[in-house]
Amino acid sequence: MTRGRGTSAGRAGPLTDPAGVAALLRYDADRGLTGVDTSSTPGFAGRKTDGLLAQDADAGLIRRAQERLHAHSLRPDGARRALILVLQGRDASGKGGVVRHLSGSVGPHGLETTAFGVPTQEEAAHHFLWRVQRRVPPWGRIAVFDRSHYEDILAVRMHGLAPRSVWEPRYGMIREFEDGLTANGIDVVKVMLTVSQGEQAERLRERITVPEKAWKHSASDLADRLRWHEYAEAFEDVLLRTDDDSAPWYVVPSNRKWYARWAVGRLLLHHLDSMGLEFPAPAFDPAAAEEELDATTALITRP
Ligand code: AMP
Ligand code: MG
Repeated sequence: MTRGRGTSAGRAGPLTDPAGVAALLRYDADRGLTGVDTSSTPGFAGRKTDGLLAQDADAGLIRRAQERLHAHSLRPDGARRALILVLQGRDASGKGGVVRHLSGSVGPHGLETTAFGVPTQEEAAHHFLWRVQRRVPPWGRIAVFDRSHYEDILAVRMHGLAPRSVWEPRYGMIREFEDGLTANGIDVVKVMLTVSQGEQAERLRERITVPEKAWKHSASDLADRLRWHEYAEAFEDVLLRTDDDSAPWYVVPSNRKWYARWAVGRLLLHHLDSMGLEFPAPAFDPAAAEEELDATTALITRP
């Protein structure tokens, strides 16, 4: 496994720390979405076996970082924080796998996931941000969105569900919505998973040929695939118009599932690290409390 090069953790150089990964993956308008090599592994020099090890090692870090987020939000000074991770990407780009990795790392008490599909009748009867607003996490928690309010531009535009005059102003509305969240202590981290045409074809083919995966197949995925370049343009417009230092977009090459999962975990760690989270000081006298504890031990009696 180590191939004489040490473990992945031992090799973690400056480029692979969370801040370094974030810098490498931040959306760059000059390069564009299509300028990103979908099978590259920015910030990670190892192979799949190393990547899986690194993913496992990070699971503990992510869990502890969320614990810190929760504890920080209990501070008496009212410094409340939470985080929303938005996942977008084509069909079969691996959004679900990233969600599984993160929810497996943190657990349901600290991380809530929401898959935003075609709006239900009730959702469709409301403002487009209504269903998103309801899933904004409470203080101390992380919310992971598998698709998001960005579908109210993307899906609506691509499927002609409403005229341009409806979805076009939403770039600005979404930025205002996100600004309000970040100004109130809720970080918004946005990730676009990107796969190649060939990789998407392989993954969609598996859904067609492997019986256990047939439930994932949807004819509409093929219709969407046919419009590959139109989607690329729609994604690019979203990235270009809604990327901001306060609610940044990251583009994660996702041909290698292990890389995408590791990288998104690192992005999460980076943002949690950047929050300057601190545990609350104990609101009691530890020495006195310990004496009390010892006293109880001495006093416990059998019935
Ligand atoms: P999946 O993620 O494969 O389960 O598919 C969910 C589907 O719901 C995708 O085809 C999305 O485009 C669609 N969807 C998500 N949000 C919206 C929305 N706001 N309006 C219309 N379609 C949506
Ligand atoms: Mg789909």
